[in-house]
Amino acid sequence: MYAIEYQRAKSIAEAAAALARTGGKALAGGQSLVGAMKLRLANPGTVVDLSGLAELKGIKKEGDALTIGALTTHAEVAASAVVRQAIPALAALAEGIGDRQVRNRGTIGGSLANNDPAADYPAAVLALNATVLTNKRKIAADDFFKGMYETALAADEIITAVTFPVPKKAAYVKFPNPASRFALVGVFVAQTGAGVRVAVTGAAPHVHRSSAIEAALAKSFTADAAKAVKIPPDSLNTDLHGSAEYRAHLVSVLAARAVTAAG
Ligand SMILES: Cc1cc2nc3c(=O)[nH]c(=O)nc-3n(C[C@H](O)[C@H](O)[C@H](O)COP(=O)(O)OP(=O)(O)OC[C@H]3O[C@@H](n4cnc5c(N)ncnc54)[C@H](O)[C@@H]3O)c2cc1C
Repeated sequence: MYAIEYQRAKSIAEAAAALARTGGKALAGGQSLVGAMKLRLANPGTVVDLSGLAELKGIKKEGDALTIGALTTHAEVAASAVVRQAIPALAALAEGIGDRQVRNRGTIGGSLANNDPAADYPAAVLALNATVLTNKRKIAADDFFKGMYETALAADEIITAVTFPVPKKAAYVKFPNPASRFALVGVFVAQTGAGVRVAVTGAAPHVHRSSAIEAALAKSFTADAAKAVKIPPDSLNTDLHGSAEYRAHLVSVLAARAVTAAG
């Protein structure tokens, strides 16, 4: 690893000021950032540890909105009775992330800020039409994910929480890489107040909505309607795990399974 300066923030304002001053990186669960530093893919110079900030933790439901603090771990989301009752698909998604160690350290805010092209939470945030809350503003899901590992966040901007409107129906199905559990392809289907929304992760350089499957499901919310959609492979990923054509096939198949799971 490179030599780094470590700062433990005592408040969100102090963390934001340290990020602005040093050009460093926020540290949450460290499950992506520390690995990237060890592999010398990242050299932030300074890491600003958010883990002592109690105001970034916790889960609450107010009316039809479920709000999850940025530092809430995947294990806490998976185990939360509130999440299981309000959006069971979200609890199940969290339970399927990585392994027990990753779920006990990794956080929802870290996953969203990282925006790995194969991460699970971005699909939930996009399909459920969630809002990302930061220390500066509110960002609609449709405006948050900008590219591979790229988001709308400024360098000194900190995710504080995510608010999910409770959907009428939702389910997430992924085809996991058997080693990491990252999604080779994952599809989150939701019937929301804003209509049917379908988000796909793992298939392309970054999470995206499938307008073709959304249109098919708006007409007929059935597995057959999803499965009948032919996804063009042109802009999808090819790597040692699968070809673009294979991923294109998986998108329709997993969307169909998600519709069935949503009931
Ligand atoms: C073996 C392994 C398997 C995994 N499998 C999966 C999987 O199946 N599915 C999946 O989705 N993910 C998987 N992950 C990734 C895991 O979910 C990470 O927890 C997550 O990507 C990052 O969360 P973190 O809290 O550890 O963030 P960190 O690693 O601490 O930070 C990641 C990035 O986010 C930034 N950041 C963190 N918190 C904030 C914040 N509040 N505001 C602004 N920026 C912030 C950091 O500066 C950094 O750039 C896996 C990881 C490992 C190591």
